[in-house]
Amino acid sequence: MSKQAPPPTLTEKYSGVPSRLAAIAQAAKDQLYSHKTVADSTPRRHNVRLPPDTTRAAFDEAIAALRQHLGADNVVLNDKPLVDGWYLEHPNTHDAFHVVDQEDLVSSAVAYPGSTADVQTIVKWANEYTIPIYPISMGRNVGYGGSAPRVPGSVVLDLGKRMNKILNIDAENASCVVEPGVSYFALYEEIQKRKLPLWIDTPDLGGGSVLGNAIDRGVGYTPMGDHFANHCGMEVVLPNGELLRTGMGALPGKNGTDNPTWQSFQPAYGPYSDGIFSQSNFGIVCQMGFFLMHETGHQSYMITFPRDEDFPEIVEVIRPLAQKHILGNIPQLRHVAQELNVTGLPKSHWYSGSSPLPRDLIRKHASQLPCGDCSWVFYGTQYGDAASIDSQLSMIKSTFSRIKGSKFFLPSDLPPDHYIHSRALVCSGVPVLRELDWLNWKPNAAHLFFSPITPTRASDAQVVHDINVHLHAKYGFDLFPTLCVAGREMHYITNIIYDRSSNDEKRRAAALMRELIAATAKEGYGEYRTHLLFADQVARTYSWNNNALMRFNETIKDALDPNGILAPGRNGIWPKKYRGKGWELLGDRVEKAVGGGTIAPKL
Ligand code: ADP
Repeated sequence: MSKQAPPPTLTEKYSGVPSRLAAIAQAAKDQLYSHKTVADSTPRRHNVRLPPDTTRAAFDEAIAALRQHLGADNVVLNDKPLVDGWYLEHPNTHDAFHVVDQEDLVSSAVAYPGSTADVQTIVKWANEYTIPIYPISMGRNVGYGGSAPRVPGSVVLDLGKRMNKILNIDAENASCVVEPGVSYFALYEEIQKRKLPLWIDTPDLGGGSVLGNAIDRGVGYTPMGDHFANHCGMEVVLPNGELLRTGMGALPGKNGTDNPTWQSFQPAYGPYSDGIFSQSNFGIVCQMGFFLMHETGHQSYMITFPRDEDFPEIVEVIRPLAQKHILGNIPQLRHVAQELNVTGLPKSHWYSGSSPLPRDLIRKHASQLPCGDCSWVFYGTQYGDAASIDSQLSMIKSTFSRIKGSKFFLPSDLPPDHYIHSRALVCSGVPVLRELDWLNWKPNAAHLFFSPITPTRASDAQVVHDINVHLHAKYGFDLFPTLCVAGREMHYITNIIYDRSSNDEKRRAAALMRELIAATAKEGYGEYRTHLLFADQVARTYSWNNNALMRFNETIKDALDPNGILAPGRNGIWPKKYRGKGWELLGDRVEKAVGGGTIAPKL
């Protein structure tokens, strides 16, 4: 395995990795690159992708004006060969996990604002030149589109590069305020540096933006795993350039200071407006407050279940335990196929065929792993002092023991390289990188998440699971379901891993997504989040009462953004000037754009 150039550390770059993880990051990079068969980059086939309805001359004039505003170094044309990179050295020019042509979902240029005032300036510029802009915080929205804009040729606003300050950590209030470029790694390290007895909540990978993940309604795994629910207060630039503070921030503090209750009380007075800035294109969030958790004792564990058919009963056992808050966090229920995958070994290590791994083979290999021959694996964590953790665990053990053959493991029962040790870190608020191991499954691996929500009820969960089993087999993909479970709903997340050098795999992955979305919607289940290429389809499944919700969203969009400059099409919300012009990606348009086509209505 050849050694790659060292990944950047946090001291070198705001988006780097903490030095405690430098060796792990190096090993992860070396391993991922060892499966890469495509070149780092290929010469561009097309010139700069222009914004829609914009001539090169008009574009050049607009870019010159933007450079005047921001400084020439802070506006960079996207005209160099595209480099997919990897998680810690990811591009802000396109979707590194491209589903369609690598050069199709691209920006025309990237702008780097250094302040909220710069963001306002850019928004005013976009209105003047009617050029679409697309804000990203850190662009690590992997599996959902990364840094790519929905409309090719948009100018991407990379907020994180120059707006990456932790503006406040209030230890008494257990809260913080961050800018878009603050990663989970950076926030965690700062709290350690200050020796504060506080935890953050991190997703599986720690390199994403705290702010960006929350407004895309991502989840983590401590008791404060619902990131948007644990935010408190926002500062937002509206599409007309006006600046808004939500929550108590709307009430001016004494003598021009921030309001003292901005990070204490979420709704303030009047309609609760924060929600409309999540998963939307109604504003650019420049600051956001978050609650932090007090550090506490914790104990992670793993429970295995022997039969595939145990699935409905596991769900029935989880529901009351979660509703009564006996389960301490947002636990994960995974199929045993993932135990093979999280070893970081490639698929070819387990199976020489190209079809999905046969069930018998998974069984055979699992029996050699610490989990043994099982079907489902539950990862949970309990919190509190030793005595209360003991009593919680004995209740959990005895309830799950109803399922014949279930087995309980503590981290100390498992080898030091077992995945449980990284889950234990994530579940105690320590951001890590282990989840990258998934990507060693295939050469040039990329992935798409399919993320429907089901009630925590066996009959519902079984329908969604059966659809996934059937359609993954139909399109020839291994099924890797991870369920993030709560008392009333479960995020049933499958990770569709494809080789991004293969147009056949891309087409099949896209077709699988499309059919999964349609089949689950027919049964009444919808996605909580999706890759931007499938946003139109998902948004249109929420069609109750003649698309009342979309019509409501469009009314807000048109009122706030009459020129349609801010992230057109994000979450399926199109401004008036784009509607009815063929921008919506419905039917098989994504598959058709693979391998040289385009997602835009016209070139
Ligand atoms: P991550 O937070 O994981 O690094 P991104 O920065 O890509 O991921 O954010 C996820 C998505 O949320 C982006 O694609 C973009 O559409 C939206 N987004 C991110 N940051 C902002 C922001 N500050 N204001 C408005 N929308 C944003």
